[in-house]
Amino acid sequence: MQTQACQALDRAHHLHPFTDFKALGEEGSRVITHARGVYIHDSDGHRILDGMAGLWCVNLGYGRRELVEAATAQLEQLPYYNTFFKTTHPPVARLAEKLCDLAPSHINHVFFTGSGSEANDTVLRMVRRYWSLEGKPEKQWIIGRENGYHGSTVAGMSLGGMAPMHDQGGPCVPGITHIRQPYWFGEGRLGEGHDPSPEAFGRACAEALEAKILELGEDKVAAFIAEPVQGAGGAIMPPASYWPAVKAVLARYDILLVADEVICGFGRLGEWFGSQHFDLEPDLMPIAKGLSSGYLPIGGVLVGDRVAETLIEEGGEFFHGFTYSGHPTCAAVALKNLELLEAEGIVERVREDLGPYLAERWSELGEHPIVGEARSLGLMGALELVADKATGERFDKSLAAGSLCRDICFATGLVMRSVGDTMIIAPPLVITRDEIDELVHLARQALDETARRLAEPCPL
Ligand code: PMP
Repeated sequence: MQTQACQALDRAHHLHPFTDFKALGEEGSRVITHARGVYIHDSDGHRILDGMAGLWCVNLGYGRRELVEAATAQLEQLPYYNTFFKTTHPPVARLAEKLCDLAPSHINHVFFTGSGSEANDTVLRMVRRYWSLEGKPEKQWIIGRENGYHGSTVAGMSLGGMAPMHDQGGPCVPGITHIRQPYWFGEGRLGEGHDPSPEAFGRACAEALEAKILELGEDKVAAFIAEPVQGAGGAIMPPASYWPAVKAVLARYDILLVADEVICGFGRLGEWFGSQHFDLEPDLMPIAKGLSSGYLPIGGVLVGDRVAETLIEEGGEFFHGFTYSGHPTCAAVALKNLELLEAEGIVERVREDLGPYLAERWSELGEHPIVGEARSLGLMGALELVADKATGERFDKSLAAGSLCRDICFATGLVMRSVGDTMIIAPPLVITRDEIDELVHLARQALDETARRLAEPCPL
């Protein structure tokens, strides 16, 4: 199909997610037709390095025949059957076993969903149900973080702390509140505190959790939910002091920890789960995305023994589940994906080779005149665009520097996402060192061009 024909159909009938419908209609969508390895291709013949692995999900890269074959074989054998009403099937049972094998040893159960958002809806209901079963039904409050992302369903967006989402289609689910995020460059560095070091800021953010627990009352708080590294909020790696201090707070109170592993899971940070990198012991871990490398939609919640035992022993029927909970074809593809990640040593390679290499090359971009900070962890990275490198002052909002840089990247062959004026990357985990070099080269070119355009006199 020709580009324009596809765009016309799209414009006439398709409402895109997280999109200004009218603006996109006027501009026209980019049509992606195929992909191989770390590259996507559009209908005009451009090859683009996918620095975002789709939406942080194509961990194994594009075009893996083994996943196609796993899907085909399962579609022929049993394309669909549900897991309600005391039924199961081999792919879901095997996938459950494999996940619990890979997860920390205190996690031995999984509840399947179709997406990360559904996983977090499940978390909300499971956590509250757990405390009711424990005889503490008043433990209902869930504490999340400002600018955290946990999905787009009503529960997902309520648990998340994205204010623009809360402002649309509310009200949010009651009993959810948010504390400050450990975003040092954005909120710590220029903050009013006495000690502006990242470590002091990290501790202050953990103290905000304790203050919130005390304000609500420990006997009213069910759980704290957070991404090990905030993804959609801007690839925000917390200061090293943050997670140990949060762990210490949670240890003082009887509150569950939910680590949202939807982005950080399956190798992104060089461990199977981001929680392992930060030495967390979460009670629940929502997962999705990299679980199937995005080839088919599947998510779930990994449930630690403490919660699982109560739900199993005391719970009776849990009135919750989805038509596609444990979908056999999605499960077969996810299982094959995990086997390949393991057999090819991809998680170790991210930890020992590619992550450190990206860190080395990415940090060079920190020297660029419009970059205030370059940070990375595993195969996730961010650049903070600034107007004044010395003071870290941001560009005027009306210049939309981040969107400009993103569009330049796309036009020159790199997908790099912008969150405000923070540029982020999270490439497929199969990227090579040469491809990292290409990514850094394209990003630098885009920064040069962005700087040049921003310096042009304003046409009045
Ligand atoms: N949690 C996190 C941390 C996410 O990044 C996302 C998606 N970006 C979700 C949940 C929601 O996942 P989904 O889009 O599959 O519903």
